Amino acid sequence: MIMSYLAVPISASNPDKAAEQIKAALAAGAEILELRTDYLENLSGQMVRELVAAARAAGSKAVPLIVTCRDKNQGGSIGYPLKLRLDVLVAALKAGAEFIDFELDNFLRIENQERILVALSQSRRGRLILSAHNFSGKFDDILGLHRRILSICPSAIPKLVYTADHINDCFGALDLLNRTGGERIALCMGEAGVITRILAKKFGGFVTFASLAEQCATAPGQLTISELKDLYRYDAINAETELFGVIAEPVAHSLSPAIHNAGFASLGMNRLYLPLLVQAGSAGFDSFMRNIIRRRWLNFRGLSVTIPHKHNALAFARSAGAKIEPLAEKIGAVNTLVLSAQGGIRAYNTDYAAALDAITSAMGIARSDLKDLNVAVIGAGGVSRAIVAGLNDFGARIKIYNRTVEKAQKLAEDFGCEYAGLDELDKLDARLIVNCTSVGMYPNVDESPLLEGCLDGEMTVFDTVYNPAETLLLKQAKKARARVIDGVTMFVNQAIAQFRLFTGQEADAELARKTVMNCLS
Ligand code: NAP
Repeated sequence: MIMSYLAVPISASNPDKAAEQIKAALAAGAEILELRTDYLENLSGQMVRELVAAARAAGSKAVPLIVTCRDKNQGGSIGYPLKLRLDVLVAALKAGAEFIDFELDNFLRIENQERILVALSQSRRGRLILSAHNFSGKFDDILGLHRRILSICPSAIPKLVYTADHINDCFGALDLLNRTGGERIALCMGEAGVITRILAKKFGGFVTFASLAEQCATAPGQLTISELKDLYRYDAINAETELFGVIAEPVAHSLSPAIHNAGFASLGMNRLYLPLLVQAGSAGFDSFMRNIIRRRWLNFRGLSVTIPHKHNALAFARSAGAKIEPLAEKIGAVNTLVLSAQGGIRAYNTDYAAALDAITSAMGIARSDLKDLNVAVIGAGGVSRAIVAGLNDFGARIKIYNRTVEKAQKLAEDFGCEYAGLDELDKLDARLIVNCTSVGMYPNVDESPLLEGCLDGEMTVFDTVYNPAETLLLKQAKKARARVIDGVTMFVNQAIAQFRLFTGQEADAELARKTVMNCLS
C-alpha cells in the first residue's frame, strides 16, 4: 500500500515566523512539511538552506520536507522570477530536502528541466513533484495528464490540483486515485472539493494538505490540521473505511459530522462521516447519488439529508426503487438513506420520531396522551410537516400558523388541521407550542416568533431551532414559567436514530449532546 502523508504548508513571511510555524506544525502532528518559500520576503537560496536546517533542528528529522516556490500564475504568493525560484529549489536539494515541487508547464522548457534534473541527480534522496493546477475548473482529461507527466519524467510524483465547482467534480480526482497506482497526488480546491482532501488517505493519495489555522491556508478549501485529525478522524482512515455523510447546502457549519464521527470513534468503528456540499436542485442531487452508487469502491453506506434536499431524496429514492418507510412517504421527505454493499437503498425520516420523543419525554407523557392536546405549530416548511404528521398520528388538535398563509393552508389540508396567519398568534390557545420557523436562529438571535405576553406557565414550548440552544423564544417561555424543549434535543434524537440505522448500534446520547453543545459554544 502507498504511504499517505499529512502535509502542513509553512507559509510565513520571514524565517523567524516560519520557524514558529514549523514547531507548531510538528506539535500538531504534521507528517510532511511543505516549505512554501514563495511566501518569504527577500527570498534567497541561502535563506532556504537556513530554513531547511532550522526545520531539521526543530526535530523534523523524521518528517520529510517538500520545498515549493510556486509560480504566481499557479497560485504562488510573491511573484519571484523563474531564475530565483529555480535557484531556491536547487538550494533546497543541496540542503537535503526530500522533495521539491515544480510546475509541469515550467518543467517543459528544456533549460529548466535540465537544471532540475542535474540538481536531482546530484542529490542523495531528492525527488520531484511535478504539479499542474487549474484554478478555473476541472482538467479536460486528468488521467491523460497523469500519464503525460509520467511519460515526461517517470520518476516524478504527479500532482494534479483543480477547482471543484460542484461536488460531482470531485469524482475525476477520486477516479484517478482509484485507477492508478504509484505515488500521485490528486486534490480539488474549493469548498465543493473538501472530500478529496479528507479521502486522499483512503485512496492512497501521496499527500493531503492541511493548514495550521484557517488564516494560514495556502489553497481554497484547505482544512485545518485539527479539523482533519479531530473532526474527520484522519488517523483512523484506511482503505477499508466505510463512508457516511450529510448532503446539504450550506454544509460547512453542520453539526452532523461532529456528532456521527464522535459516535464512530467512541465505538471504535472504521467509519467516517463527511460534509457533502450538494448545491440546491434535484439534478445535482440525483447525479451525486448516481456517482456514489456507481462507484461501489467508494464504500458509501449511509447519508443524512437536510436542507434543501429532503424532497429530492424522496424523489430519488422512488426513482431508484429504494425501500421507503411509509412514514417518509407520508411526510413527503427523506432525511436518511442507507446504502447496502450490494447496492440496495433504504429511505427513512427520523425527524418525526425525534420530535415526538423530545415532546413526550419532556412532558412526561406517552404518545397516546397526545390525543386531543391543543397544539400550535408555527411554520409550514419541512420540519413542520414532519412534526404535524407525528402529532396528527396520535390525535393532537393542531393549528398551523405561517407567514405564507397558503402554505399553512396546504399543510393543514393534507393533515386535516386548522390554519392561520402569524397575525393570529396573539390569540393563541394551545398547551403545546412548536416553533418550526427559522426565526431566532443564529445570527438573528434577538428575534422570536411570539410576543412575550402570549405565554403562560401551563404551556410547553418547543423551539426546533438549535443554534443557539437557548433561543429568545425559550428565554421568554422560561420567564413565563412554561416547560421548555430545545432544538438540540430533537437534533440529537434524529442523529441517534440515524446512527442506529447506519450501524445497528446505539450511540451514546450523552456524548452526542455534549458534542453538539461544544460545537455551539
Ligand atoms: P423550511 O422548509 O425552509 O421552512 C422554513 C419555515 O420558516 C417556513 O414556514 C417559513 O415561512 C418560516 N420562516 C422563515 N423565515 C421567517 C421569518 N422571517 N418570519 C416568519 N417565518 C419565517 O425549513 P425547515 O426545514 O422546516 O427548517 C425550519 C427550522 O427548523 C430551521 O431553521 C432549523 O432551525 C429548524 N430545524 C431543526 C431541526 C432539529 O433537529 N432540531 C432539524 C431541522 C431544522 P414561509 O413559508 O412564509 O416562507
